[in-house]
Amino acid sequence: MRTLHLAHLYPAEMSVYGDRGNVIALRQRCAWRAITLHVTPVAPGDQVDWASFDLAFFGGGQDSGQALIAHDLLERQGPGLRAALEDGLTMLAICGGYQLLGHYFLTHAGERLPGLGVLDIHTVGGKQRMIGNIVVETKLGEQTVRLVGFENHSGRTFHGSGVRPLGRVLVGYGDNGEDGRGGAVDRNIYGCYLHGSLLPKNPQLTDHLISLALKRRYGPQVGLVPLEAQLELQAQQTMLGRLLKRFA
Ligand code: GLN
Repeated sequence: MRTLHLAHLYPAEMSVYGDRGNVIALRQRCAWRAITLHVTPVAPGDQVDWASFDLAFFGGGQDSGQALIAHDLLERQGPGLRAALEDGLTMLAICGGYQLLGHYFLTHAGERLPGLGVLDIHTVGGKQRMIGNIVVETKLGEQTVRLVGFENHSGRTFHGSGVRPLGRVLVGYGDNGEDGRGGAVDRNIYGCYLHGSLLPKNPQLTDHLISLALKRRYGPQVGLVPLEAQLELQAQQTMLGRLLKRFA
């Protein structure tokens, strides 16, 4: 029986729109493959041995939730988490969590929250909220996948040259409503604005993240046992059918 360890960052302060569903999806698709996913919640003030983790998840939150944890993230967790990410730790961050992986988040109230700086992005709060269903087309390995989700943010995120976009926005606003970028990737760090929850709706991405973590822990030869996802894919297709009608 294989085991993977996931750190769930600040679940009390940072989990909106059912973002914890991402952790449930990871755990369930691991369990169906006889992999135990051990989940450790990380609260402000906790001592964490980041080298012991295979996956990290960081959900979305309101500006006020972000302000509560930004300094703990940077000062307490920063050095260990940065080193683990440098070493290939697989991480998924959504919305408010995604923003705090960048250089900074300047809120619409003018507060500058420092970010971890592990993604070459920065975020500026605006007056307009970007709300609605979103579709981002991405490549996961050889596979082209249209990720479906729901976004709600006023922060606009801009990319530097050190990240590549997770994908291209087909429907919705994406990172800033201007350049068609939906999410960012660097090393094994994935960030985007897709609530939904994201992973239950997009099993291809769930499996991609599990696969990255498994290979790092157990060796590059270890592949994922294929697993059906008929209902999830049917739900994904239904949303794509509705949202992409104007492309048809
Ligand atoms: N507070 C951030 C924004 O509105 C993130 C919101 C969220 O995580 N849903 O930009």
